[in-house]
Amino acid sequence: MSNAQPLNNYVAGTWTPSSHGEQRPVHDPATAEVIATVTLTPAEEVARAVEAAHEAQRAWRDTPVVERTQPLFRFKALLEEHIEEIGRIIVRESGKTLPEAVGELRRGIENVEVACGAPMLMQGVNNEDIARGIDEHMFRQPLGVVAAITPFNFPGMIPLWFLPYAVATGNAFLLKPSERVPLTSQRMFELLEQAGFPKGVVSLVHGGKETVDAILDHPKVRAVSFVGSTPIAKYVYARATANGKRAQCQGGAKNPAVILPDADMDMGTRIMADSAFGCAGQRCLATSVAITVGEAHDAFVDRISEDAATRVVGSGLEDGVQMGPVISDVSKERVEGLIEKGASEGGRVLVDGRGRGVDGFANGYFVHPTVIDGVAPGSTLATTEVFGPVLSVMHADTLEQAIAMVNDRAFGNQACLFTRSGAAARAFRHEVRAGNVGINLGVAAPMAFFPFSGWNDSFFGDLHAQGRHGVEFYTETKVVIERWPAAWSRTF
Ligand code: NAD
Repeated sequence: MSNAQPLNNYVAGTWTPSSHGEQRPVHDPATAEVIATVTLTPAEEVARAVEAAHEAQRAWRDTPVVERTQPLFRFKALLEEHIEEIGRIIVRESGKTLPEAVGELRRGIENVEVACGAPMLMQGVNNEDIARGIDEHMFRQPLGVVAAITPFNFPGMIPLWFLPYAVATGNAFLLKPSERVPLTSQRMFELLEQAGFPKGVVSLVHGGKETVDAILDHPKVRAVSFVGSTPIAKYVYARATANGKRAQCQGGAKNPAVILPDADMDMGTRIMADSAFGCAGQRCLATSVAITVGEAHDAFVDRISEDAATRVVGSGLEDGVQMGPVISDVSKERVEGLIEKGASEGGRVLVDGRGRGVDGFANGYFVHPTVIDGVAPGSTLATTEVFGPVLSVMHADTLEQAIAMVNDRAFGNQACLFTRSGAAARAFRHEVRAGNVGINLGVAAPMAFFPFSGWNDSFFGDLHAQGRHGVEFYTETKVVIERWPAAWSRTF
């Protein structure tokens, strides 16, 4: 594929160039090299895609669910067959390491597997004789055309939080991936085509804000799933719901982890380092604030600083590399600016990841792991999503104080605790205002059969992604109440 040739959309089962629209380069974050060009699809072309999807959905909704899941089974097999190849595409465009890329695909494939259970997952309920001779049934029916708008940091996994459930339940599905990482979706849609979905049931439309707005305003799009930063999640939620659509919008995060003095410090530090620095800190479940309690402070800070200083940073395609670059030059500058801000607001920079570069990758967007101790509650670093490999350390005297610090933030994606005490774990999981809780875990990512349960400013909506929530989000309930008087029966 030529870098200059813009990527095609997949509309009505055909790979279609966007006839006009602004074009953007796609960069390899490890080298800054341009690896593709993406078109920001304008509104009228989005409308064509939605109309084609709407047309296709009429026949798809009448296709028995056991037949609708067959292309998903084939898609799952194709993803398995191509997992490393797609993993390499993820590395090229997002910068993460190959094991991280393959790992995210594995989590995505789990969603395809779960959605293949749609024949049971979308079953309704019924009661015979709700009154004499009257029966009541509740069915689940698809909505129509549904869309997902996804972020840069999990180009393989996040579209799969939505697509399998949407199509298995009888909807036509349209994806607008991040314009910064369009190549992974491009390849996954080639596999979807190969899996044999009828034309128009799955569509891919590249683009940015205008493309998103066209989706949010189109009357035939019935539901919108969004994952990205909090300001855009709020905007998408407001505009989609004002237009009468269902919306589930996952936003940003600022995830705390509390370390009690009784924690297994070696294990806890290793897990925390993977959480804070894995995927270069660009995970919505990355721990970005460590809250040490009592005597835990010194032991934790020594170990985590050692890990941060020795973590192998480089190109995600090279063996032994533990952490890749951040997504862009803008992101690198923003993360480095936040480290500076943390220092100017009184934090002690114990390990400084700025300005260290990587041999052989002079143009890459690298920020090395950074640890800042003594970050004050309420300061910029304590409250702002960094989305880079920066761990802030705060301190509390008691578990109660630590829980209050955990709850003193706008986001609610994840909170973790490291301890050997069951009573402390129970108090923590009961009290914290976060939807994904880890006990002696650093990335509490729910399996595909559990909802991805962000709270507060990390989620706008009611039903979350994945599992039964996904099935409920993409279906509406229809209740049928029936009376068939015996007098009308033929006598057999
Ligand atoms: P982003 O908000 O910049 O972009 C997300 C999507 O919104 C992209 O498809 C983009 O094209 C679109 N978009 C961007 N600006 C827009 C605008 N003004 N109007 C309409 N659409 C617009 O997010 P990102 O930088 O790609 O991803 C990182 C963010 O995503 C972080 O905040 C991270 O925490 C969050 N995230 C959250 C979860 C979660 O489950 N809560 C998971 C992954 C990432």
